[in-house]
Amino acid sequence: MQVPLSDAKALLARLVSFDTISANTNIPCAEFVRDYLAGHGVEAKLLPSDDGIHANLFATIGPPGNGGIAFSGHMDVVPVAGQPWDTDPFVMTERDGKLYGRGTCDMKGYLACVLALVPEMKRRKLTLPLHIVFSYDEEVGCTGVKPMIAEFGKSLPVPGIVLVGEPTLMTVVDAHKGGYRYRTEITGQAAHSSKPQLGVSAIFAAADLAMELRRIEERFKSRNFNPRFDPPYSSISIGSIKGGVAHNIIPPFCEVNWGIRALPGLDIPAMVKEFDDYAQNVVLPPMREVSDDCAIVTTQMGVLPAFSSGENSPATSLAMRLAGQNETFAVAYGTEASHFQAAGCSSVVCGPGSIDQAHQANEFVDIAELERCLGYLTRVIDGVST
Ligand SMILES: [Zn+2]
Repeated sequence: MQVPLSDAKALLARLVSFDTISANTNIPCAEFVRDYLAGHGVEAKLLPSDDGIHANLFATIGPPGNGGIAFSGHMDVVPVAGQPWDTDPFVMTERDGKLYGRGTCDMKGYLACVLALVPEMKRRKLTLPLHIVFSYDEEVGCTGVKPMIAEFGKSLPVPGIVLVGEPTLMTVVDAHKGGYRYRTEITGQAAHSSKPQLGVSAIFAAADLAMELRRIEERFKSRNFNPRFDPPYSSISIGSIKGGVAHNIIPPFCEVNWGIRALPGLDIPAMVKEFDDYAQNVVLPPMREVSDDCAIVTTQMGVLPAFSSGENSPATSLAMRLAGQNETFAVAYGTEASHFQAAGCSSVVCGPGSIDQAHQANEFVDIAELERCLGYLTRVIDGVST
């Protein structure tokens, strides 16, 4: 068969024309995909978000039911504000073998390749279902795909293998770190700064807790080490600390926003308990001697589990064979693959374009990358058709 490159380019131009920055609606984009699929005799389901401004899309081609292979990608893109674009980010522009525009690389290029092959999928006699699984709100913490995955095994079938097409230059990515975000709120006791013995400084407590996070990270470095990742250990960072009122008031309140970039396998509950034990048993007791109202409360603000497809997993083996790769990589950024894997679908990440271009001004994808992706996807279809 002829690889439908011109169709993929035309579809990508349409997809780029929808401003699907995560905060905006993606419904016109999802409806375009739904209508395109309907034009090829494929019925797609739109699954709207609770607020109705976003929608996931799910469609199956071939025999219905569980199993088979899913092509997964997100329809949303990152903002363009403040970026020095040379062209309109929502008008795809071709120059020197590259296609420029917001989302060309991350990751509407993959969506366009999948959609361009729909006529081919329809022509074949498929022995397994092929699923199209397009999400929203990936760029704001991989949250949009979760309600769709929650429907797997209920109103939607459970794919056996999920091929996530985030930009990897068509190499095979089988692992990434997890991201966990926390907020620790410290309640102290206000007093005039000339009488510190009457107050409890929430900021000193925060400083103590910050240093404990540092010590925990040092222990991570010595305990588990995985050279596939850069850095090769689970890291902790504090993104912001807010607290205090004025120079002459003992600060009654402080909040610390911190996070862990965790290697696969890190025992997160144990780590958080270690931190909280220190807070409750070391930092808090002397604060309580001054005021019973003092408190230290840590709340989880967001989770993206670490992703590891596992040695010789069905998804990784398939992607390596069909992408012509003989090694796999671990990456620093998070993807929806961790949610699919956690739901029991063997998952892997492999897609066109470089993560170096993602989220940048003048984002582009090489046309040659789209051709490689179309070849890879065609081999996926070959593998499940007679
Ligand atoms: Zn992406």
